[in-house]
Amino acid sequence: MPAGIVARMKSVVILGSGPAGLTAAVYAARAGLTPLVLDGPNPGGPLITTPLIENIPGFPDGIAGYDFVDQMRKQAERFGAAFRSATVVKLDPAEGGGGSLRLTDGETLHADVVIVATGANHRTLGLPGETELSGHGISYCATCDGAFHRDQHIAVIGGGDTAMEEALFLTRFATQVTVIHRRDAFRASKIMANRVLEHPKIEVRWNAVVQELIDPAAGKLTALKLKDTVTAEESTLEVGALFVAIGLVPATQPFQDVLECDANGYLVATGPFTRLPGVFVAGDVADSRYRQAVTAAGAGCRAAIEAMHYLESLGE
Ligand code: NAP
Repeated sequence: MPAGIVARMKSVVILGSGPAGLTAAVYAARAGLTPLVLDGPNPGGPLITTPLIENIPGFPDGIAGYDFVDQMRKQAERFGAAFRSATVVKLDPAEGGGGSLRLTDGETLHADVVIVATGANHRTLGLPGETELSGHGISYCATCDGAFHRDQHIAVIGGGDTAMEEALFLTRFATQVTVIHRRDAFRASKIMANRVLEHPKIEVRWNAVVQELIDPAAGKLTALKLKDTVTAEESTLEVGALFVAIGLVPATQPFQDVLECDANGYLVATGPFTRLPGVFVAGDVADSRYRQAVTAAGAGCRAAIEAMHYLESLGE
């Protein structure tokens, strides 16, 4: 039987709508599998807030994360992918392959093929008052919230590429940007680190951690209590806002009982294959090393191709 006919009778559900999920959707839809993409809690994933992505092949002038995701989504839709605003809380594997997906709204969906592309979410500092001050001086997205802090002194915490991007973007609004990093060297790529180090509006506090957020009782962030990790000296930095850019936490909660996770919480997979038949994986949820839009997209492609082969192998 031709692959398309088998596929149309089967349900393919893709979890996540970042570059991995959307690329899987483009490939699966183009193969006639009419996939359903469940957006999850953060449609588009963290990439959507990146002001300018400069290293995606094919965009010599770069492209905004939002536009990149939006284009991929339209491309998937053009080939017949459907999208639904829904979040999975639990995957229950089915004996014959695939599984049932329990959603936050109480509904359960059956899927013959599941492609897990749930990505990773912003890591939080875990400090008292962080949740309450979120949106009142604490943010995880400079493109979303930077403009609210015009003419203020803004702090960014983190030493990776995201922190560099956030700091550079925030120089558009801030009187000054202070990057707070817990070590004496950035993890970020050299090109991004150099842009930060050379920027006249940015200063770096090396070997520093935020100990306390001031002032949750007043309902807004006014200052940070910092501690030097080398000298143990404490200081206070008055700021109008803090942008937290300390990495990502893989979104594996719904799968933790049924799929293996490594010590950092990422799903363990062999390429796109998990240990469950009909359950494939793609993108940052299983990639602690590369975590790039382009590698996630490649992984989405692989997962969709293996899903097609899997459905063909069922031969029904
Ligand atoms: P990341 O590379 O994991 O960096 C996280 C940073 O936060 C590290 O400097 C880390 O410090 C620090 N950190 C972690 N936990 C902390 C805590 N509890 N308190 C204080 N600091 C903490 O994360 P990312 O910057 O979000 O980047 C994620 C991936 O996306 C990377 O692969 C990155 O290259 C990629 N990315 C690429 C681009 C681009 O190419 N345009 C842009 C953004 C991101 P340590 O260094 O001490 O561990």
